[in-house]
Amino acid sequence: MTVAYDNQNIFARILRGELPCTKVYEDDDILAFMDIMPRADGHTLVIPKMPARTLIDIQPETLSKLILATQKIAKAVKIAMRADGITVHQFNESAGGQVVPHIHFHVIPRFEDVELKGHTGKMADAAILAELAERIKAVV
Ligand code: AMP
Repeated sequence: MTVAYDNQNIFARILRGELPCTKVYEDDDILAFMDIMPRADGHTLVIPKMPARTLIDIQPETLSKLILATQKIAKAVKIAMRADGITVHQFNESAGGQVVPHIHFHVIPRFEDVELKGHTGKMADAAILAELAERIKAVV
């Protein structure tokens, strides 16, 4: 069964400029911005501008652009955060852990022997997110 795209989801509203985000990168097809409840400093989300719910239903051409942009952001986040590694998460449907029904890749900087923070539900300080975004933008 095909589930319709919900154009009121948070990321659709960010794309329309109805809600703010701390932008890291944008081109004709892609937006990258700081995760508001980061699991590590520098946690960035990469989304296509084209509406798509999941990895299952995204158009292959859009997916190609999305994964290439995810690589670009992963490189920049690794440099900017001086990270030892990068974890990329991508969840599909609520059963798969997806909360926002607009496909996105999580790019999370990792450090040797440092666990990811849990899902605290706590929003990060906006000034800190802005400062981290500037660091990433400088190398993207
Ligand atoms: P998931 O759908 O499980 O892959 O996770 C959605 C992610 O979006 C979570 O990591 C949230 O912290 C993040 N998030 C939710 N609302 C916003 C927002 N307004 N700006 C930035 N990130 C958000």
